[in-house]
Amino acid sequence: MAGPGRTEELAPKDAYLAEAEGSVLSAIDGGLVLDRTVFYARGGGQPGDVGIIRWDGGEIEVLDTVRKDGLPLHVVAEGAALPDPGTAIHGSIDWDRRYRTMRTHTALHALSGVVFRDFGAKVTGGNMEPGVARMDFELDGISVEFGQEVERKLNEELVRGYPTEVVYLARQEALKDPDLIRTKVNLIPEWVDEIRVIDIVGLDRQADGGTHVASTLEVGRVRVVKTESKGKANKRMRIELSGH
Ligand SMILES: [Zn+2]
Repeated sequence: MAGPGRTEELAPKDAYLAEAEGSVLSAIDGGLVLDRTVFYARGGGQPGDVGIIRWDGGEIEVLDTVRKDGLPLHVVAEGAALPDPGTAIHGSIDWDRRYRTMRTHTALHALSGVVFRDFGAKVTGGNMEPGVARMDFELDGISVEFGQEVERKLNEELVRGYPTEVVYLARQEALKDPDLIRTKVNLIPEWVDEIRVIDIVGLDRQADGGTHVASTLEVGRVRVVKTESKGKANKRMRIELSGH
């Protein structure tokens, strides 16, 4: 890939890392690219991290992290003074926000696992913010009672404390896994030949680049706050972490 080099991305390897050292690869107006970062770049329905980047003699607030030209771009205020390429930095994310996002993200996996296991419905879409999320299912109908039943089943599963495992599979292997086919592993660009899989063993398994908590116990309780129809065979559930 053309450009200043690659960024070592720490979030997919250790979701619990809140800060890391690195250096500046490039600085453009409104953004910084680092050689190493703890910030998660928005993707797969998970929002990008916010936080602070500090260096000798300065610091700047990171307002969002997005992916640009394949690399995480730390978005900062336009016109702000930025460190030169090569400058050593210390990055730290807003950990409370990220951790809430990890709990929310893991709740969505459990929700998708429960709805598929008990109702045979696949996910058609979803999105999350720290503490709140929505997920759409291929269901013919939906009701308040259905939402309540799913909420009860979901919380029953969460307190069992399923571990969340991260495994890497060769693309050819991943394409044969029925769970991964169900969650559309085939939509991952063909040049990706190592697929990252999040396995909440026995509950849900899908190809995913995001950050999750290590056990479903950490999610806490989840409420289904709204059920709505978004069209034929497309029904939406909105969830919220209790006490988020
Ligand atoms: Zn995920």
